[in-house]
Amino acid sequence: MMIFENINSLSIVDDFVAKYGDKIINKYSHLKDLGIKICIDTQAPALLKALDDCKDSPYMSNPSCNLIIKHKDTFNKCGFLVNEEMAIIAHELGHIIAFISKEVPKEQLQKEYQADDFSIFLGLADELKSALKKMVEADICPDSNKDMQKRIDRICEIQGDGYK
Ligand SMILES: [Zn+2]
Repeated sequence: MMIFENINSLSIVDDFVAKYGDKIINKYSHLKDLGIKICIDTQAPALLKALDDCKDSPYMSNPSCNLIIKHKDTFNKCGFLVNEEMAIIAHELGHIIAFISKEVPKEQLQKEYQADDFSIFLGLADELKSALKKMVEADICPDSNKDMQKRIDRICEIQGDGYK
């Protein structure tokens, strides 16, 4: 079982671990004892700047601290379904796993693709795609819309169904 430190007792985190924890540990057994912290808009001073840098994202990760943060206000603008939120959490976890495995690409879009692959690995490709669409539609981060569309297109290509 993965160790998730569910700081704000978000039920989605418990559900995520119950649903996907075993599958993750089966593939990444070295993560078994890794404590991943997850919380809502923390006020911890060390994290305020990181939060400020990423407040246009519903979730962010800080891989060097094994930390995932949910931005409630930004999150609420998008109207995600539960499975879409799971896909986003999986994406953030993908960033952390890449960091731990020391396999982080230099280019930002490649980093996003790599984290997307982790959602896809957990069977959440459709959910990630619709989550990305909602982020583009909500226009929470206009500068990222183009890259998010590229990520949607890439998932479609991987799925090979031509659906957009
Ligand atoms: Zn990302």
